[in-house]
Amino acid sequence: MGFEPVLMNDFKRQWTEIASDCLDAVNNVGASGWYVLGSQVSSFETDLAVQSNVKFSVGCANGLDAIEIALRALGLQAGDKVLTTPLSAFATTLAILRAGGVPVFCDVDAHGHLDLDEAEAILGQHKDIRYMVPVHLFGHPLDLTRLEKLRDLYDLKIVEDAAQAVGASFGGRPIGSVGQAATLSFYPTKNLGALGDAGALLTNDEHLSAQFRTLRDYGQSAKYVHSQLGMNSRLDELHAAILKRAMLPRLSAWIERRREIAARYIAGIQSTAMTVILPPAGAQSVWHLFGLRVVDGNRDLLAAHLHKSGIQSGVHYPHLIPHQEAMKTSAKMQVEGRMQNAADFAAQELSLPIHPYLSDVEVDRVIETVNNWRGQ
Ligand SMILES: *Cc1c(COP(=O)(O)O)cnc(C)c1O
Repeated sequence: MGFEPVLMNDFKRQWTEIASDCLDAVNNVGASGWYVLGSQVSSFETDLAVQSNVKFSVGCANGLDAIEIALRALGLQAGDKVLTTPLSAFATTLAILRAGGVPVFCDVDAHGHLDLDEAEAILGQHKDIRYMVPVHLFGHPLDLTRLEKLRDLYDLKIVEDAAQAVGASFGGRPIGSVGQAATLSFYPTKNLGALGDAGALLTNDEHLSAQFRTLRDYGQSAKYVHSQLGMNSRLDELHAAILKRAMLPRLSAWIERRREIAARYIAGIQSTAMTVILPPAGAQSVWHLFGLRVVDGNRDLLAAHLHKSGIQSGVHYPHLIPHQEAMKTSAKMQVEGRMQNAADFAAQELSLPIHPYLSDVEVDRVIETVNNWRGQ
C-alpha cells in the first residue's frame, strides 16, 4: 500500500546508473565497425581474468555452452559419466548431455551443494566416473579444500558451474582454482549480467584456454583450419563492451551490497518457521540468491503472504532435474540414493529479493513481512 513493489531483480533502477556507460560502449563498437570476437572481447577477457584471479578467461555465448565447451575440452567422450547435482538450473545437466555425457545424480548437503561425502562414497564405488560438475549454488562456493582432495584422490576432471558465483572464493582461493575450468553465465539476472545472453570460461591452464577458443568458433584452430567439430558460441563485441565498461567495474560494489543485505536478513529474520541457507564455513559467498527453507508450514503460502505485501520471491528449484519430463523420456542417467535432502530443498526453498538496488527500508519491509507470517 503506497509502496513500490519489491522485485527479485530491478533492471530499471540498474539502468539509471549504467545507461551512459552502456551507450558509450555501444558507440565505441559501432564506430569500430567490428562486431564479433574483436578487441572488446579480448579486453573484457583480460579484465575478467584479472578480477577473477585466474590466468585465462574465454568469452562465449552463454553459461550452458560454457559447460559443454569445458567438458569437451577436457576430453569427455560419448557415454562418459559425470557426477553432478539434481538441484540446479536445468542447464547444468543439459550441458552434460549435449557434450555426450551421462549425468550421475547424488544428493545435496545442508547448503544445497552436491554432497561431497556422498560424492566420495559414489566415486569409491564407481571407478569409471572421471568427471564432475558441481554447482556453486546461490553464490555460495563449495568447500574447495575438500573438492581438491576428491579431485586428487580420484583423478577427476572438474568443471565448476559458477554461473551464480562470479567473484566468490573459499578460504581466499578463487572459484576455478580447483576445477580445471569454471564456467560463468552473464544472463541478466546473474550477479554480473549482460543486456542479454553471454557467458565465459575461466581456467589456469593455457592449453585448455586455447581449446575453449577453438570450440567456441566452429572448431577453428586457425582461419579456415578446423581441427575439431566445434560450435558457434561466440561472444558479441557489443556484449563484451557493455560488460567491460558498465558492469565489471561495478561488480565488487554490487557484491558488497548483496553481502550487506544478506547480513541484514540474517540478523533480522526471527521466525522459527524457517532457516536461512548459509554458505559453508570458510566461504566468501557472493549471495546470488538469499534462500530460506520453510521447515514449519507451506513455502507457497509464505510466497503468497509476501506477494500480498508487494514482495516478489522465487523458488530455486521446485523440481529436481532427474524428475523432469525431458529426462525421463529422452536421457540416459544414473541416480544414486534417495536424494532426500534435495527433495526437501525442492519442497521447502524460497528465495527473497537480494539485488543490489534494494534500499535498507525495503529489506526491513521484507524482514517484517516474513516475521509476521503466521503460517497461512
Ligand atoms: C543460469 C545458470 C546456467 C545457465 O546459464 P545461461 O547463460 O542461462 O545458459 C547454468 N548453471 C547455473 C547454476 C545457472 O544458474
